[in-house]
Amino acid sequence: MPSPPPSATEAAEPAVEAAIRRAARAEADAQGWGAYVHAPWCTSRCLYCAFTVYIDRQPAFADWAEGVAADWAIEAAHFGAAAGAPAAHSVYFGGGTPSLVPTAHIARILSLIPRQDGAEVTLEVNPGSIDEAGLRERVDAGVNRLSVGVQTFDPEHARRLGRGHSREEARALLATLPRLPLRSWSFDLIFALPEQRMTELDADLDALLEVGPPHVSLYGLSFEPGTPLTRLRDEGRVQAADPDLWADMYDRIVERLEAAGYERYEVSNFAQPGHRARHNEAVWRGGAYAGLGPSAHGLRPDGARTLRAADLAAWRAQPAGLVERPAPREAAVDRILSTLRHEAGLDLRALCADTGHLPDADEIGRLIRGGALRAGAGRLQLPPGAFPVADGAVRRLVDALRPAAPTAHTPKRAP
Ligand code: SF4
Repeated sequence: MPSPPPSATEAAEPAVEAAIRRAARAEADAQGWGAYVHAPWCTSRCLYCAFTVYIDRQPAFADWAEGVAADWAIEAAHFGAAAGAPAAHSVYFGGGTPSLVPTAHIARILSLIPRQDGAEVTLEVNPGSIDEAGLRERVDAGVNRLSVGVQTFDPEHARRLGRGHSREEARALLATLPRLPLRSWSFDLIFALPEQRMTELDADLDALLEVGPPHVSLYGLSFEPGTPLTRLRDEGRVQAADPDLWADMYDRIVERLEAAGYERYEVSNFAQPGHRARHNEAVWRGGAYAGLGPSAHGLRPDGARTLRAADLAAWRAQPAGLVERPAPREAAVDRILSTLRHEAGLDLRALCADTGHLPDADEIGRLIRGGALRAGAGRLQLPPGAFPVADGAVRRLVDALRPAAPTAHTPKRAP
């Protein structure tokens, strides 16, 4: 679908901002968009968790679904659903533990969001939170992909992290998956745990490869501000993994997954052929997505970012949440952060055209000569060996951002 001509309001905006809006709109029209739905409940809180999570014996699921519907009523106008614009390529129920949400509410939300034929619908699932019959109900309601939060099979490490499930529950859940008509599923693996030895990581990898998930998402344990685990570290009661061991563990995971036929398509994500996560991949590449539910972030097709309140009562009282339109430099930072970790890398021409900013050429040269980046066909990419230190290269590129000199690729002034 061609981009609409700029409106009178748009013409009054600075040229670069108008160009960002048009570029984002064209991208959305070409690819459709995704929807992320946040379900904020868990049965217990993991010690490292920094997400918006409520531990509630009687969650108000119906009120939550009502709130998600109210969020969607606001976002539908921006995503053009009513105007016949492309429908969602994916819906992702994340949390929290969305597998706790009764099927009727999942089905209701799915009935509201227009989806393309074959759209990916992912539900995050924690072992112990749902049985096979419950999973079948969700699949019948439209879920076709599961993201399973196993994290580790090691009972001692799971206990120390405060994971709310046992190894037996994880194995029981995994055993049901081949019997379900899913298009794909993903296994969450955590590593770099306090006092974790390489042999223990290998045992987790042995168990993972025995199951053979189509997709694997990695999480190197981090100590987020305000979490109980961070407090324990600050009190000297647990120790973060040594950075060299962290890097060795990451390398070991990559080596073993690649040897087993997985493709690393993002720093922390691996897929067997045909099993990349459509939703996440679109987000990493800067695609638009509606963020629904408490604490959900979103990116509208016009380039506006949305953030809904984390507190349940505040969210229900103010469903619109915060809406901000990033300045050109912020849009450039977002683009670098979201794209460089993906194997496709950062398209410099598109960055310049859409945001009017580019990283300083001398700094790019230094990063390439130092082996932190490689260049080809107008793109900057992370060489395979540089993935563990990706954050450093990303930070240096962000620091080196400058307004680009006018060229054929910089946005033309809006008429
Ligand atoms: S299961 Fe996930 S969302 Fe829930 S407390 Fe643990 S880390 Fe947080």
